[in-house]
Amino acid sequence: SAASDQNAATVPAAKATDPTATPMIEIANVSKSFGQTQVLRNVSLTVNRSEVVCLIGPSGSGKSTLLRCINFLETYDAGEIRIEGRLVGYTEETPRRRVPNRQLRELRRNVGMVFQHFNLWPHMTALENVAEALVQVRGLPAAEAKSRAEAVLTRVGLAERMHAYPNRLSGGQQQRVAIARVVAMEPHVILFDEPTSALDPELVGEVLQVMRDLAADGMTMVVVTHEMGFAAHVADRVAFLDGGRIVEYGTPTHVFHESAEPRVRQFLQTYH
Ligand code: ADP
Ligand code: MG
Repeated sequence: SAASDQNAATVPAAKATDPTATPMIEIANVSKSFGQTQVLRNVSLTVNRSEVVCLIGPSGSGKSTLLRCINFLETYDAGEIRIEGRLVGYTEETPRRRVPNRQLRELRRNVGMVFQHFNLWPHMTALENVAEALVQVRGLPAAEAKSRAEAVLTRVGLAERMHAYPNRLSGGQQQRVAIARVVAMEPHVILFDEPTSALDPELVGEVLQVMRDLAADGMTMVVVTHEMGFAAHVADRVAFLDGGRIVEYGTPTHVFHESAEPRVRQFLQTYH
């Protein structure tokens, strides 16, 4: 109709109803304080489908808080966060009114999160860890959960170790189980908060390889990391946070090689 034609011409791309055109995550002017401490200052960031965005920056710059706001583990004070076009955050002024709990649960199912500490259930095998999550969270029948868990554990290179308990697995293997547990849920985006920071150096590579494979398969990922090689080679975009602000943003080449921002240059020097 004429009305919808006119609509199509005036609605910006990000607000289009075509789901492939809607960004996976849109963060607009988000601010947050803990008491007197402002931790996020007017942060804006867009993550498109199948993009890998790495968040880097010094300790205390707000990286974890930003991830936690995206995953609704934290409230924020101002601004908006949208996942697949739907407003999923809520502010202190309008607590939860914007997002009924039921809807929050549903939206959270599409956003996976991998932490520095793997938090596997110690009394369950790798296979049971992944399968149990599918039964509990997704409500899959046990047999279906088991076969899906086997497939995902094979994908992360753990076909031979499925029946091991966490304390018989290396840190790298445990983190791969944790990633498999998230991937098995078929999230639309996965947030990683320093997934290799707790690992012995020789175990970091196997976890980064799993993440590289996920990226190559088209998974949308937001990755807080100190692995500059990973950010340089896998990220589509890199955001550098300092003092709760994104002070540099762009392609890895731009951020790592072309930035004139002193804080970025100084930070990167400590990694060379
Ligand atoms: P990063 O992940 O970049 O190291 P964080 O997001 O963890 O940074 O922390 C940013 C700032 O917010 C830090 O100054 C930290 O001390 C503070 N902070 C984080 N979580 C809380 C909290 N729950 N209560 C009070 N302050 C917090
Ligand atoms: Mg952190």
